[in-house]
Amino acid sequence: LEFLHQTDPTIAEFIQQELQRQRDHLELIASENFTSPAVLAAQGSVLTNKYAEGLPAKRYYGGCEFIDKVEQLAIDRVKQLFGAAHTNVQPHSGAQANFAVFLSLLQPGDTIMGMDLSHGGHLTHGSPVNVSGKWFKVCHYGVSQETEQLDYDRIRDLAKQHRPKLIVCGYSAYPRIIEFDKFRSIADEVGAYLLADIAHIAGLVATGHHPNPLPYCHVVTTTTHKTLRGPRGGLIMTNDPELGKQLDKAVFPGTQGGPLEHVIAAKAVAFGEALKPEFKTYSAQVIENARALANQLKERGFKIVSGGTDNHLMLVDLRCIGMTGKRADQLMGEVNITTNKNTVPFDTESPFVTSGLRLGSPAMTTRGLGTPEFIEIGDIIADRLLNPEDGTVAQECRRRVASLCDRFPLYPHLSIPVPA
Ligand code: PLP
Repeated sequence: LEFLHQTDPTIAEFIQQELQRQRDHLELIASENFTSPAVLAAQGSVLTNKYAEGLPAKRYYGGCEFIDKVEQLAIDRVKQLFGAAHTNVQPHSGAQANFAVFLSLLQPGDTIMGMDLSHGGHLTHGSPVNVSGKWFKVCHYGVSQETEQLDYDRIRDLAKQHRPKLIVCGYSAYPRIIEFDKFRSIADEVGAYLLADIAHIAGLVATGHHPNPLPYCHVVTTTTHKTLRGPRGGLIMTNDPELGKQLDKAVFPGTQGGPLEHVIAAKAVAFGEALKPEFKTYSAQVIENARALANQLKERGFKIVSGGTDNHLMLVDLRCIGMTGKRADQLMGEVNITTNKNTVPFDTESPFVTSGLRLGSPAMTTRGLGTPEFIEIGDIIADRLLNPEDGTVAQECRRRVASLCDRFPLYPHLSIPVPA
């Protein structure tokens, strides 16, 4: 960073400002986390200089002997973490991983079935603005209106009616356990492939805190930067070796060019960290903290979608206090709490306004906050949302946020030279 400061003080200053923002805010975006300094170091390495199209020991470029070792180690660690027979660690992101799966399993015009975006699905699961919704016919399932949880009988009926070629399970805003065995029985009944997109819950799956989809799903995709706490990126896994070869081709040359080997090195470091016992303890705490926050918000009169959480995230249904997600997100921002507005199931507000707030525990758990601190966070959120016009309350909330941030410093050893 010393070099960066000398060469490009403007960018150095922007990075410094972002570091300060991360230090000063309570990060409650469910899809974000703080990677370790070791992950940051690997990603910022000379590996970014190298072209390595192909796979370890099967490259189209010379000079890949060390790159091969890096990528092979990343592969081996994924196999060990998830019990996968085959993996491709090259997808640049979760969306790229899903796109490669579509290319390898589907033809344009085929039918896919995924969770509705407004019920917690992802854009890549058949949204009309994404290639998955433009190239394929889509039938969406949602959660039950009564329980706000997956209703497997209803999903089975829909699958029988629409006979999709691919069923997607795994979500961006679903706080409950996913029963992959039930999805597999539905997929088998209609002759569909089953894809689990565990982008959000990968860290919980890797540590046994959520059922593992690999025994049940034809393909599993994930991001590496959420609960798994690695660099931004994606990966694909399968237990079917033939499918594995097809998926490799769909990644390269199907949908990507040269792999980002510096990112793959950072992924390998993160997978190594995730194999350690401390990561299991961390994952358990992520869930405990999310529960503590959900319970405290319920105590304070808020409605939590589906009544609570089994994982790292929750959705607050703000209709109970007559507030929109947009307004709540803004109120949180004013007291240095970072969240995101989110639709709740059967929302009548637009995706830009929404009736919900999505909250997650992975990032602040990484900073070391435990159950008492998450109860305090619940109280700060409640105090602010229940007193939106009160400047004194806002000031007090900001002070309490600053106190938590001071007690749990982020990257204490990382220093960026202050521009002159
Ligand atoms: N799949 C799910 C379930 C997600 O939640 C996300 C991101 O939020 C993605 C895929 C896409 O990941 P990326 O942003 O890395 O493309």
